[in-house]
Amino acid sequence: MASYLVLNNGAKMPILGLGTWRFLQTVKVATDVRYHHINCAHMYQNENEEKLREQVVKCEELFIISKLWCTYQEKGLVKGACQKMLSDLKLDYLDLHLIHWLTGFKPGKEFSPLDESGNVVPSDNSILDTWVAMEELVDEGLVKAIGITNFNHRQVERILNNLSLKYKPVVYQIECHPYFTQEKLIQYCQSKGIVVTTYSPLGSPNRPWDKIKAITAKHNKSTIQRNLMVIPKSVTAEHIAENFKVFDFELSSQDMTTLLSFNRNWRACALVSGAPHKDYSFHEEF
Ligand code: NAP
Repeated sequence: MASYLVLNNGAKMPILGLGTWRFLQTVKVATDVRYHHINCAHMYQNENEEKLREQVVKCEELFIISKLWCTYQEKGLVKGACQKMLSDLKLDYLDLHLIHWLTGFKPGKEFSPLDESGNVVPSDNSILDTWVAMEELVDEGLVKAIGITNFNHRQVERILNNLSLKYKPVVYQIECHPYFTQEKLIQYCQSKGIVVTTYSPLGSPNRPWDKIKAITAKHNKSTIQRNLMVIPKSVTAEHIAENFKVFDFELSSQDMTTLLSFNRNWRACALVSGAPHKDYSFHEEF
């Protein structure tokens, strides 16, 4: 099985990546075991860690992803946010830049501005304007490709149906693990030629509200067998190495059916404070 997928812009993207939510210290460990795909985000605020910088300048083969945070979605803020990421990461360009959530937040110093009820304070930007600003990043050479995360299929459709669309999303990053198998959304994206990356593949067990504790690395394999990319996060060297050992065995169709049967549509990342937002994605079935 190939260890990369070809995107709709012709680029090759390594199937197995390292998730870096909260931690980048392990990038060196990961690249030593041949991870070449690193998933960052403005929101993780870990771009300044020395190890990634060292690694990135040494390793041109890395496929680096970042994400535009919700407080920077207004058209005039998109480029500056990307330039800040590039400067922090010491990069000339990103291989892929994603819109992190469809819900725009009020711009400002706070990453998650909340009102007195604990709900995020929205901005009134249009996602199509944000998409156009993302397209400009491609034209200016700051990013090679653009994509999305955490949209529902109708919101993806809004972008795809935009008649002035210049670049289609190449990748769609979604939560997916045995408790949330996302068959309908994955089928939808694949029918549109959008490659799916699955995040929190182990059910994100270090989030405080987690309910899954013992999901095996088998899940990374099952994801790959579904023609998806996967970005497990780990700060433990043994886990990083263990999670990479998914290319030398096959799960039987019975195993796959069993894993898919665990589904209970349970989300680790629901952005609950964004639920009243007009663009909140998760009121839809998929
Ligand atoms: P995850 O990858 O499902 O789980 C990470 C947890 O699993 C860590 O506690 C890790 O502990 C543990 N773990 C990893 N490998 C293990 C192994 N072999 N055996 C036992 N435990 C293991 O959760 P996640 O961090 O939420 O998701 C992964 C990445 O997806 C994030 O880092 C981020 O890059 C991305 N993400 C994207 C979004 C989005 O909105 N697009 C949202 C959430 C996450 P150790 O560190 O000790 O190994």
